[in-house]
Amino acid sequence: MAGTEQPDLEPDLEPDLEADLELLAPLTDFDAFRENGYALIDWIADYLTSLGQRPVCEPVEPGEVRAQLPVAAPQLPEPFSSVLADLDDVIVPGLAHWQHPGWFAYFPAMTSPASMLAELASAGLGVQGMIWSSSPAVTELENHVLDWLVDLMGLPEAWKTTSRGGGLLTSGASASTLIAMINGREKCRKRTGAPVEQMVVYASSQAHSSVEKGARLAGFGHVRLIDVDDEFALRPQSLAEAVSQDLVGGLSPAAAVSALGTTGTTAVDPVRGVGEVAARWGMWHHVDAAYAGSAMVCEEFRHHLAGVELVDSYTFNPHKWFATNLDCSVLWVADRVPLIDAMSIDPPYLRNEATDSGRVIDYRNWDLSLGRPFRALKLWFVIRALGAEGLRATIRRHTQWARDLSARIDGHLCLRRIAPTPFALVSFVHTAGDAATRALATAVNDTGRYFVTVSEIEGRPYIRVAIGATLTARHHVDSFWQFINESAVTLRPPEK
Ligand SMILES: *Cc1c(COP(=O)(O)O)cnc(C)c1O
Repeated sequence: MAGTEQPDLEPDLEPDLEADLELLAPLTDFDAFRENGYALIDWIADYLTSLGQRPVCEPVEPGEVRAQLPVAAPQLPEPFSSVLADLDDVIVPGLAHWQHPGWFAYFPAMTSPASMLAELASAGLGVQGMIWSSSPAVTELENHVLDWLVDLMGLPEAWKTTSRGGGLLTSGASASTLIAMINGREKCRKRTGAPVEQMVVYASSQAHSSVEKGARLAGFGHVRLIDVDDEFALRPQSLAEAVSQDLVGGLSPAAAVSALGTTGTTAVDPVRGVGEVAARWGMWHHVDAAYAGSAMVCEEFRHHLAGVELVDSYTFNPHKWFATNLDCSVLWVADRVPLIDAMSIDPPYLRNEATDSGRVIDYRNWDLSLGRPFRALKLWFVIRALGAEGLRATIRRHTQWARDLSARIDGHLCLRRIAPTPFALVSFVHTAGDAATRALATAVNDTGRYFVTVSEIEGRPYIRVAIGATLTARHHVDSFWQFINESAVTLRPPEK
């Protein structure tokens, strides 16, 4: 278009940059930051120390929270005190309080002061750990803390970054398992050349939904959910049979997943049994220890790890039961070379000497995302604040209380446990039937003092009691027991 006259694209009005300075003060006013920050820390401490007086779940109708928010975003800066006031008036009354001492639902999301402060430190640093050279300490602390955990949890030496393997931190077990599934796919592709539509992933019928989702997202054509035994653990014999059938049918067995602590009942699949079948057919073997993995910090739980040396990848969530707030999930691989092969893309703007030297880890080549937060700071703060002994003490308390509760349930005429209690989850029903089980759970949750989940297994409802909130003390579990002990007797709705 040479020679063509350009229209004047400059706007008529010069923006008033001096006036903007006042608007921008909230970005750089660190006196205000100190004051607001101290106020917020006080607010958090007040929230947590008074939480026991609130209902576990605030009663809210759909849309009730939004109805209290202004229709449009503010045009001008608002004082921090107004935001804090709305936390009290609008947000807190719209929460289910996961940190409540009577929180027994789902799995815990156990936090700790150390973890909260680390989250703040991470936000304050505002750094990015996509590659080693983008902020070296982010990568090296992540390498180091995850190597520490290999030792602390009695896991194979080979998983350390100083050996052939290595660990990374992800947003959750779902992301960790997806990465594992991608690795399983690539391993099978290299070995068999089969198209992914013909590849099969195996897991137990009790596997977490993230396994099926990860397999689907990774493109697998087939997911087989394998029979479990009467304690809800995968039967390796059934796995072997399913694999043989698929081979006969012309499919390619690609990956097997063992659950170390299922979400339903914390059942533990036989890692060695699954590992042997996986090894026989060259499959990738992934262990999902999202919840129960934290317990491996205590030696007495490590018998569940038998066969873990046969594993290709392993995930657990410190954000469930390891005093670390969301999000923080660990994924270890026994051999990092195939992981890096599967996950690497090398754009020129990320080329650098450190990477080219091969002496550093670039986590973007291990992870789904490029940008990575400084999650290792949380684990580092938590492990240092509590020490391994402090972490063991939390796991042991919760497990002991859960076992005591199990024993009491076993001694009650109207209650029946449906599964063992290897960790700190108790699963039980009312003996009068499904309606009574549901009625008991409703009665518990209606107190506002405790919150349990009703789940279903083999088509029947049951009550899950997961003990593991930081603020839960023995007396909370005792008073919970008193409540169900009495309610179970009075509740006898007619069976259909
Ligand atoms: C909680 C859980 C998951 C999912 O973890 P996210 O971190 O929420 O993705 C996966 N597997 C098991 C066994 C779980 O208990």
